Amino acid sequence: KLYNQVQDLKGSIRVYCRVRPFLSGQSSYLSTVDHIEEGNITINTPSKYGKGRKSFTFNKVFGQSATQAEVFSDMQPLIRSVLDGYNVCIFAYGQTGSGKTYTMTGPRDLTEKNEGVNYRALGDLFLLAEQRKDTFRYDVAVQMIEIYNEQVRDLLVTDGSNKRLEIRNSSQTGLNVPDANLVPVSSTSDVIDLMNLGHRNRAVGATALNDRSSRSHSCLTVHVQGRDLTSGSILRGCMHLVDLAGSERVDKSEVTGDRLKEAQHINKSLSALGDVIASLAQKNPHVPYRNSKLTQLLQDSLGGQAKTLMFVHISPEPDAIGETISTLKFAERVA
Ligand code: ADP
Ligand code: MG
Repeated sequence: KLYNQVQDLKGSIRVYCRVRPFLSGQSSYLSTVDHIEEGNITINTPSKYGKGRKSFTFNKVFGQSATQAEVFSDMQPLIRSVLDGYNVCIFAYGQTGSGKTYTMTGPRDLTEKNEGVNYRALGDLFLLAEQRKDTFRYDVAVQMIEIYNEQVRDLLVTDGSNKRLEIRNSSQTGLNVPDANLVPVSSTSDVIDLMNLGHRNRAVGATALNDRSSRSHSCLTVHVQGRDLTSGSILRGCMHLVDLAGSERVDKSEVTGDRLKEAQHINKSLSALGDVIASLAQKNPHVPYRNSKLTQLLQDSLGGQAKTLMFVHISPEPDAIGETISTLKFAERVA
């Protein structure tokens, strides 16, 4: 018991993998995934990658039939630790179309049953706060920002403003983007309204062919402040729920101009994130936080006592095999 408590005090890095089901109309007999066994996933590799099978090991692997509720129940202890004053980061990583937004938010036609982690996490925090109301008084507030081409933008604006925001490391308030709107929330319906606003703002500037949401990182940050009603002491925790930009490699010979610039920014920030998590996992004393806006933003929620969950997503289609292998390699490096 004591050992568990001591372990709990330490920061931790966990890596989960989720396989998207085939979409309707797709035939399913050609899945890249050979089999899944607890934390192991084995994929079939075509000759180009050395024909055969390749296995990868993670803390947990969710197959195509895993439900949103199952996925969430595994993350619940992590999310609940925010109310005890921990900082938590949850990342959704993977190529565009692999299911990142589905895991974090849900599908376009959202119902209670298929709500993603973001909604469930906040619902759970409210529920637990209510259960503790005789001993603690909790205040919850959220921010939602986007990082696009290494520029930070507020997604919770109502006036269409598009100001570039600065990242500051203000350990006193815990607000690293002090100029982004910080909106108090006290119910899941507050959260749903705000997420809708954020998603509408994220879509601004996107055309059908040019889906910006796949090329920017979005980060929902939940700030929790709890006051112990007997001692009066205050504890603070925060949780960052990050839907990362698509990890697919772009062929430099095929894109130019803005598209190339975007691809370079994404590449740079995803490798910076990989480098930070890998050095934390290896207990390397030098952690290169300064190499991207994303890692600067999350600096005090990565490492130390903070808890990190890297959730990698893969598509089951054979023609995605190149990206699937590179995603699994990324994940193995940070595990
Ligand atoms: P990404 O955000 O990585 O680009 P999406 O989350 O948008 O990918 O998923 C692509 C498509 O697949 C969407 O239509 C989404 O609803 C569907 N999808 C993804 N994951 C699942 C899942 N686990 N179950 C059912 N449909 C899914
Ligand atoms: Mg998405």
